[in-house]
Amino acid sequence: IEYDTADIVILTAIFAVTIAYFTKGTLWGKPKDLFADVAHTNGSAKTGKTRDFVKKMAETDRNAIFFYGSQTGTAEDYASRLAKEGHARFGLRTIVADIEDYDFENLDTFPSDHLAVFLLATYGEGEPTDNAVEFYEFLSGDEPQFSEGASADEKPLQNLKYVTFGLGNNTYEHYNAMVRRVDGFLTKLGATRYGSAGEGDDGAGTMEEDFLAWKEEMWQVVCKEMGLEEREAVYEPVFKITEDESLSPESDTVYLGEPNKNHLEGKAKGPYNSHNPFIAPIAKSSELFSVKDRNCLHMEIDISGSGLSYTTGDHIAIWPTNSGKETDRILNALGLGEKRHTVIRVEALDSTSKVPFPSPTTYDAVIRYHVEINGLVSRQFVASLAPFAPSDKAKAELVRLGGDKDAFAEEISSRYLNIAQVLEMLAPGQTWSAIPFSLIIEGINRVQPRYYSISSSSFVQKDHIAITAVVESIRLPGSKHILKGVTTNYLLALKQTQHGDPNPDPHGLTYDITGPRNKYDGIHVPIHVRHSNFKMPSNPEKPIIMIGPGTGVAPFRAFVQERAALAAEGKKVGKTLLFFGCRNSTEDFLYKDEWPEYASKLGDSFKLVTAFSREGPKKVYVQHRLQEHADEVNELLKAGAYIYVCGDAAHMARDVNATFGRIIAEKRGQTEAQGEEVVKRMRSSNQYQEDVW
Ligand code: FAD
Repeated sequence: IEYDTADIVILTAIFAVTIAYFTKGTLWGKPKDLFADVAHTNGSAKTGKTRDFVKKMAETDRNAIFFYGSQTGTAEDYASRLAKEGHARFGLRTIVADIEDYDFENLDTFPSDHLAVFLLATYGEGEPTDNAVEFYEFLSGDEPQFSEGASADEKPLQNLKYVTFGLGNNTYEHYNAMVRRVDGFLTKLGATRYGSAGEGDDGAGTMEEDFLAWKEEMWQVVCKEMGLEEREAVYEPVFKITEDESLSPESDTVYLGEPNKNHLEGKAKGPYNSHNPFIAPIAKSSELFSVKDRNCLHMEIDISGSGLSYTTGDHIAIWPTNSGKETDRILNALGLGEKRHTVIRVEALDSTSKVPFPSPTTYDAVIRYHVEINGLVSRQFVASLAPFAPSDKAKAELVRLGGDKDAFAEEISSRYLNIAQVLEMLAPGQTWSAIPFSLIIEGINRVQPRYYSISSSSFVQKDHIAITAVVESIRLPGSKHILKGVTTNYLLALKQTQHGDPNPDPHGLTYDITGPRNKYDGIHVPIHVRHSNFKMPSNPEKPIIMIGPGTGVAPFRAFVQERAALAAEGKKVGKTLLFFGCRNSTEDFLYKDEWPEYASKLGDSFKLVTAFSREGPKKVYVQHRLQEHADEVNELLKAGAYIYVCGDAAHMARDVNATFGRIIAEKRGQTEAQGEEVVKRMRSSNQYQEDVW
């Protein structure tokens, strides 16, 4: 990395004085071991690392631990940012911890002058994230057994000082349930919380600002209680980047995007999971829309021989690759365009941090495969770039935007700019070569796999997983910029390749479609499977009511496919009522040609009710159709029907929930509140299930 150290020190000092409330560093390492030699479900146990965090803190002389329960990487990012800030601003000796890597029996031995921080996302129906399940089960158990044997009544956690922030979405019923419940358990067990239990709301789009506001107050309390003093924050890189001229990108020890050592050596093996993807062939792909400027993909992904399995209603995770266009944009903005294929070694400067991808590698591979370069830009991160700006003007702009929430929202977030576009905008024609590459790795999330509701039945095609994905392409009114979804445009490029285009180029994005060292061959995609609780009743005679507009129909194609196959085998199948909605019957009516086929097998058991929002004089949505079918719906509910809702969490799922409440109230002569209560009970007994995003 080439930049003038003296310049940076001076600029850093100026910056720190100008906006003392922003720390520069963000991530304190990203500990998830994505590239462990063997796939692991419980890393520490297999690698012999300690699961005793109290011991680990003592051994590494730390006094603050930042646990994260993360599904999409945001809680992990916040944990890293807070830990870095706690060290830079307040001199805390911090460590970031994946909550699944530790046991919590000895939480009662946590030293009273230490601090535990819990960043906890809520997932799905008020559930813990995958990595927080064990932690949650331990704390929520009838009587958690702590190492010193004190019972819950004896308040075993009296020594524990903690802070906590939850990541939730108010469009879901159990908003921020994880942080609320964990906070309740901890205080009940005698622990002391510093500051408020913060809550960030993804539904309102205010997660980042909720977090920034909460943490300022929290730090004040922590400083007071722990007797800390704020000091001038100076950027300290987390990673050492060394360019290694002795290796070429062709060297067989250099990672060019391979997720781990087995993949690098061409010996990829299972178990395949969220740490170790299967590079799956795409068996089939097709376009489901019949309109020029919008795409919806049907893809069938072959998992035969992988050891992976799925059951109807599960999710598949797709690991995307960034587009060439955006990879070029950021590498050029950083002045790394020319040396993109230079081999670099990335090492953590601190023993408790881990490099979030395998090394040695290249700048190109890091950006293309591991850094979420297209995502929503963080205000704190923008502020952290000020000392490294190529001009005073650009620096002043970064300081202004970093310090002004409203200006940032108006000029950056609401325009859907990515970080490279921000850099281009603030210093046109200039490069930002002073930004340490470590800061890019620390400060920007790592690429996350995206989930898709599987749209095939495992009973019908156990080795081929189907997905139904609408390609994200959002043009803001009055702007030339079009936001292109990372994964769905990559999938579109894969589909184009499969249909004979050797240089797929959806909307000028371009892709390294053959993957690292041609391992993806243009028609493979890295995946893993996530099991879900979204399941049909085990008895196929039970009636089901499904509401799935748009791509929300994905799991219902699977449900109907499965019931049609059962019917074809002569099994008795209960009423299968599907409400589907889209714009009109000629453009985006998903699986239009398949429904009659299923109907021919299911006979009267199947009924499809459509809502085409743009065909009539008035907009009609699935909830309106549901209301129109109130009698039939009520009869089915009386016969024990299960309800399934899939798709848009923000509006549709809520409206559908309310409609069911109203139908029950109207048809049974009850009040609306009673109708809602019935729906609530159905939800808790799993008779009303949602798969929403
Ligand atoms: P991304 O690049 O992730 O962008 C997604 C959104 O993020 C954008 O629309 C925008 O709102 C925001 N965003 C991104 N970058 C910026 C920026 N710079 N500034 C501001 N905002 C930004 N989708 C389906 O089509 N079919 C399914 O069956 C399906 N099932 C799902 C099941 C589950 C359990 C979940 C969680 C999601 C499901 N999704 C499904 C959604 C899917 O996972 C992806 O979110 C979707 O395909 C978009 O991914 P992408 O990478 O193309 O877009």
